[in-house]
Amino acid sequence: PSDIPDAVYVAGVSPQPLAHPRLVALSDRAVESILNLNPAAIRAEADSAAAASLFERFVGGSYLPRNARPMAHNYAGHQFGSWAGQLGDGRAILLGETTSRSGQHWELQLKGSGRTPFSRDGDGRAVVRSSVRELLASEALYALGIPTTRALALVAGDETVLRDPLGDGHPVPERTAVLLRASPSWLRFGSFERFAAFGSQPSRPDIQRQLVQFLQAHHAPELVRKDGQSVGLMGRIAGRVSQFLSGTLFHASSNEEHSQQLFSKRTPPTTFEHLRQGSPLLRAYRMVADFVSQFNWARVSDAGWAAQLLAEEDPVDYSRWFVGVVNNTAWLVANWQAYGFAHGVCNTDNFSILGLTLDYGPFAFMEAYNPDLRPNASDESDMYTFSQQSSVAYTNLMWLAQALAELIPEQDRRTALGAFARLHEEYYLQVMRRRLGLDNEEDIDAHIVQEFKRLLFLSKADYSLSLRFLADIRDTHVANKTVPEHAWALKDIAQAEPEDFYSWLSMWYKRIHRNHNRDPLVTFEAMNAVNPRYILRNWMAQQAIEEYLGDGNSQSVQRLLDVLQQPFEVNDWAEAAGYASRPPSWAAELRVSCSS
Ligand code: AMP
Ligand code: MG
Ligand code: MG
Repeated sequence: PSDIPDAVYVAGVSPQPLAHPRLVALSDRAVESILNLNPAAIRAEADSAAAASLFERFVGGSYLPRNARPMAHNYAGHQFGSWAGQLGDGRAILLGETTSRSGQHWELQLKGSGRTPFSRDGDGRAVVRSSVRELLASEALYALGIPTTRALALVAGDETVLRDPLGDGHPVPERTAVLLRASPSWLRFGSFERFAAFGSQPSRPDIQRQLVQFLQAHHAPELVRKDGQSVGLMGRIAGRVSQFLSGTLFHASSNEEHSQQLFSKRTPPTTFEHLRQGSPLLRAYRMVADFVSQFNWARVSDAGWAAQLLAEEDPVDYSRWFVGVVNNTAWLVANWQAYGFAHGVCNTDNFSILGLTLDYGPFAFMEAYNPDLRPNASDESDMYTFSQQSSVAYTNLMWLAQALAELIPEQDRRTALGAFARLHEEYYLQVMRRRLGLDNEEDIDAHIVQEFKRLLFLSKADYSLSLRFLADIRDTHVANKTVPEHAWALKDIAQAEPEDFYSWLSMWYKRIHRNHNRDPLVTFEAMNAVNPRYILRNWMAQQAIEEYLGDGNSQSVQRLLDVLQQPFEVNDWAEAAGYASRPPSWAAELRVSCSS
């Protein structure tokens, strides 16, 4: 069906398995912390088994427990400034929720796993190129401390689909892939817009309320309380949520018996002996089998799944919740801009309601400083440039506020929106202070940031490495008006604007000596812990992707991922690959499009 009016989720969709799923890369950290699985064992089994390993089949969509109820989420959105109506997960399938060892809830998704009721004309697939980029970027932003959804594992198939990678109207066949990704919630601004009176849609504030209540009970309990009775109230909401969810959500039993059942169904009995003997491959097999069987496969049915909640006094303070959404969005975009990240497709369906970076496509990290950076070759009207992102975020929040008109009084919506610009500015300065090593606050700080950016603008110097190399400045450099030999990005500024640069440098150097902590070496150390030596540059991703597509060697993808997970540490392999050097000349020619 092209229109499914009341559904928040449509259940009963199934992944269309990749025929020969092959592991391309794993985020070790995500696999360990979110799934509690051992990445080395997963890798070993994938490497040695001739046929696809269990984990490859899991991500590839052919190994789902019999009680799995995969589903597709229904959302709408504003795209490039216009109402796009219903969109929904056209190529992502939600598997359900898992709880990490630290007690955090994660919703797992397969992206690129085939058609759903929301696929429209699409094939439901994702290609290796864009999936590698999403994997690398998700984990890179996470390592930088920028709120984001996570990527756990990528498998590639043999099938190809047509895509237009340059956005020039020339589609080419590209290899398909499935990305296993995780988020506390996949709800977007568009999830709420779907149930607002936009276009010909009737508004469904009852469903919007349920969505907020679900989010609040699961992810932001501190915002729920309307009065001092928070704990009791919270307990009641959480209790009631799980009570009615147990009616519509199916939680697989996590007991040993169940996992044995599932395991024995799929494994010849003799392998139990091997397991006891501890064959590493079979341990890996069992580990994945256990995970899959203990997973909380969830199904949220059509509208009305939370209706009982509304029968009682509504405990959620929607105005306060919206203030939180504005705040988190301001923090997100301030971080994007402080770290030189341009998302590329800032549609409301790609804006997470929790303020996470969501749906990576034609993004870019700024290299030569350019506030007008437009990463998406398909964005012909320059709507989503680097510096526009803050005003676009505000516009998106306005759409969201409008969608929530029946939940939140107009004055509260205005007040919340009215705080955005100030919050964004405050957060941006806060992050830039950290990056420039300013550990207290002085009025001059905003000027130091501005002037540094003006010099970057004039010299087109590399944004990230200019900041990184500042920690290598010592008394002698300031006194003699020089920069360290290796600091090529700073050299570029010094060469273009010698006079202004050295007076800026001296101003900044004096300023860090007025820190609470007076020891500049401590300041430099702190700067090196927030200023990455390695960022994800499009050319790096491109090189790794081409290497994989060329001869099936995924080592570069995996190594690049590993480097980006520790972007602050000098890494010999990364140095040899030129990741902290001046970008190769061909990098400037790269174009990325929406086609993914
Ligand atoms: P995106 O620009 O990737 O965020 O996607 C925007 C919308 O198009 C979402 O509803 C996606 O699910 C859908 N979509 C994108 N690519 C495909 C595809 N190949 N098949 C089906 N739906 C897709
Ligand atoms: Mg294999
Ligand atoms: Mg999207």
